[in-house]
Amino acid sequence: MAIFIVKEFYHINELIELTQNLVRIPSHKDVPTQEKEVAEFIYKFCQKNRIEVEFQEIVDERKNVIAYIRGKGTGNSLILNGHLDTVEPYNMTIDPFAAEVKDDYIWGRGTVDMKGALACMLMTMVALKRADIVPDGDIIFTGVIGEEGKSEGTEHIVKMGLKTSAAIVAEPSNYEYAVGHRGLEWFDITIKGKSSHSGMPEKGINAIEKAMIFIQRVKEELYPKFHERYNEFMGESLMNFGTIHGGTGQSTVADSCLIRIDRRYVPGETVESVMGEYQEIIDQLKKEDPTFHAEIKQTPESVLQLNHPPLITSMNEPIVSAVRESIKEVIKKEPTIKTGMGWTDAALLKTYLEIPTVVFGPGDLALAHTEDERVLIEDLVNCVEIYARIIDKFCIKDKIIE
Ligand SMILES: [Zn+2]
Repeated sequence: MAIFIVKEFYHINELIELTQNLVRIPSHKDVPTQEKEVAEFIYKFCQKNRIEVEFQEIVDERKNVIAYIRGKGTGNSLILNGHLDTVEPYNMTIDPFAAEVKDDYIWGRGTVDMKGALACMLMTMVALKRADIVPDGDIIFTGVIGEEGKSEGTEHIVKMGLKTSAAIVAEPSNYEYAVGHRGLEWFDITIKGKSSHSGMPEKGINAIEKAMIFIQRVKEELYPKFHERYNEFMGESLMNFGTIHGGTGQSTVADSCLIRIDRRYVPGETVESVMGEYQEIIDQLKKEDPTFHAEIKQTPESVLQLNHPPLITSMNEPIVSAVRESIKEVIKKEPTIKTGMGWTDAALLKTYLEIPTVVFGPGDLALAHTEDERVLIEDLVNCVEIYARIIDKFCIKDKIIE
């Protein structure tokens, strides 16, 4: 069998240009057509490189773009998943869409999260195609919409029931890899009071003061429990009081107060159990004080149909060793497991499609969403090498990479 050396099948300038082109097409949520143009760019790129490609229309004009290297149907198939959207480019100290190459980096919004990764996955597929390599199972690139929002794109993949032997989600992991991360849900807690003139506070019920009591009780009763719920791959259970809005004016007793919570939970906890804990506190406070009224619900704009459970892929899965060994061969040392990774689409693929999924992608997560986001060109080159090795180990029985 011929030896496949991936870098002989593409030029580094192609990888740089592809990343630049993707970064130069804004795809954040304030772009009227959002990811549409990026999806169309990738579609044309695949066509030009003789890679089978299709759209999945999702909502309005927004669409996933799916590309295939068809396998023989005799072995493992693999999803390479990346999101097409980025966060907004506001308050950046560099030109977000210039994609300038300087000091060995490409600079701009999405370079690290995660248009650089999209470029790496696509370039790996192009190299396979040019080398006429037919893997045992299909390699399926899923460029999905909305990951920075409601994950509409990967939710669609779940609804379609796309099933492969494993998946890689290409969030930046800086030569580490993640097999687990916390689940994530947003909750709204609305405290109801009664307005009155501030000169007659006894006629009203101050919702802001009630909210303060609720917050204090959560800190006393739940925080210690969260510390105890520790998972070695994701850390401890967490919550954040994100925003609080209450009242209508300084001289009016506040009749309402809305607290918005971000809740990061670990295996053993569920959406129901997590909500139940807040509900218990609400019920307890109501018992102590009949004027206390509150209700909890999931933040409406945070969910479509699926929840956002934790990711937990067994270390015994073959895809995990394929990823670990591939990184090791390139960086020449044992890679570490990334803990404390934020929520990713990997959890949807693993939970709802039961696809063993690992998070691995180029670049430093600490630079994602920043005012001077950038990715090292060397990291992109190494990532293509690592993806090719993962495919060789996982999807090709007769090894083609030394
Ligand atoms: Zn991301």
